[in-house]
Amino acid sequence: MAGPGRDAGESIAALELVLEHARRYLGDLDEAPVRRADSDEAARRARGSLPEDGDGTLDALTKLIELSDGARVVSSGPRFFHWVIGGATPAALGADWLTAVLDQNAGGWDATPLATELETISIDWLLDLFGLPDSWGGVLVTGATVANFTGLAAARSWWARRHGIDLELSGFEGLPAAPVLTSGFVHVSALKSLAMLGLGRGRPTICAADETGRLDLELMEQRLQELDGAPAILIGNAGEVNAGHFDPLADVADLAERYGAWLHVDGAFGLFGALSPRTRHLLAGVERADSVIADGHKWLNVPFDCGFVFVREPKRLAEIFSAGADYLPTADEERPIYGFMGPEMSRRARSLPVWATLRAYGRSGYAEIVERCLDNAAHLVGLVESAPDFELLAPAPLNIVFFRYRPEGIAEEDLDELNLTIGERVLKDGRIYVGTTRWAGKAGFRPAFVNFRTTTDDVELLVEVIRDLGQRV
Ligand SMILES: *Cc1c(COP(=O)(O)O)cnc(C)c1O
Repeated sequence: MAGPGRDAGESIAALELVLEHARRYLGDLDEAPVRRADSDEAARRARGSLPEDGDGTLDALTKLIELSDGARVVSSGPRFFHWVIGGATPAALGADWLTAVLDQNAGGWDATPLATELETISIDWLLDLFGLPDSWGGVLVTGATVANFTGLAAARSWWARRHGIDLELSGFEGLPAAPVLTSGFVHVSALKSLAMLGLGRGRPTICAADETGRLDLELMEQRLQELDGAPAILIGNAGEVNAGHFDPLADVADLAERYGAWLHVDGAFGLFGALSPRTRHLLAGVERADSVIADGHKWLNVPFDCGFVFVREPKRLAEIFSAGADYLPTADEERPIYGFMGPEMSRRARSLPVWATLRAYGRSGYAEIVERCLDNAAHLVGLVESAPDFELLAPAPLNIVFFRYRPEGIAEEDLDELNLTIGERVLKDGRIYVGTTRWAGKAGFRPAFVNFRTTTDDVELLVEVIRDLGQRV
């Protein structure tokens, strides 16, 4: 085999091969084990040196499909509760495939009016979906980490300008350390973003009231007072990852207003709580923030990767991320250039799956997905509370349930190890997939419900598998 064939038929044959595999994969999705016990070894079978002569399109893809059968994790299926990982709705999946077929560079209008217009529409629809002001703007990025980076870059730029410095132009010279305040709910990706922005991952003042990290509002206010009018950045956390708890956003927004601070809210999955009357109150005040972020590949159930940045003043993003050159277009009102609104210049056309899934299911479809996930979390809480051998470790205000296996006759000091051991075995077992965490001094499981496919049967299986493996420890 030499180079790739120029014949369009070869690309069609490649897609047909994948389609045939997709029939099998998607057909089994609701029943398939999440992971095979020998998946690590299966993945290593891909190793080897660069082939001198390639295998050709179909042979290479056939090998890839074989590899994937052994080594993939069925994280898009209904029994995956680890981290916070969504599936892919049919419309999003189809659109994502089309994205690859069309291979658009969503860096600018000249390269793709299609993806650019759909990005503008998607941002508007998402603002509407989440109840954020329609005067805001935003940009699609790879996920909540880069969204946090982008929103906090806007915060940093604002903060430097408050000190009379154009940081993007001239760097940090003449600036003091930036005061950043948050609760103990802050996500590691926000800290990572502060590291990438030169603000220091170790610098934020963590205003925690207890060992869960819950916000100590008075402490936050006291620290703001001590700044004596100097500008500060507040990070509000709408959904932390251990049990789905929230900072009191309206109170934090009050502080931001009173002390003239920037408020950035990380709502990676928690922002979707705005879609249910049961949980909407948790988001009260989010519309008063300056920047808000969420993930697409979690609760929107679009394929990886996708995240959203929303900002009160979109021009701030352009001030930071613009990068003009004679060969590049310039932006105007009608023709925004999203490559100049976020960290990436050449970009995948993520707007296609976002637009398609919102077009396909609308507000009511997404409200239904959120309700279903909240029902699943509530069902699990009920099962845990009514079982003598399980214990709920924290209230579950949204879609994450923190609990542990606690059979009779096991001493308190042995429970952490027992649950962490079961946790390792669950992953090897593969019937379901759920992670453990340590929070507020206890180790336990923390399934997160964001996949639209998960049913009550899957939730019941989760409890059965933990009990089954627990009894065998
Ligand atoms: C998942 C998550 C992130 C990071 O998102 P990625 O999509 O993994 O980059 C940030 N914040 C919170 C609260 C999260 O749950």
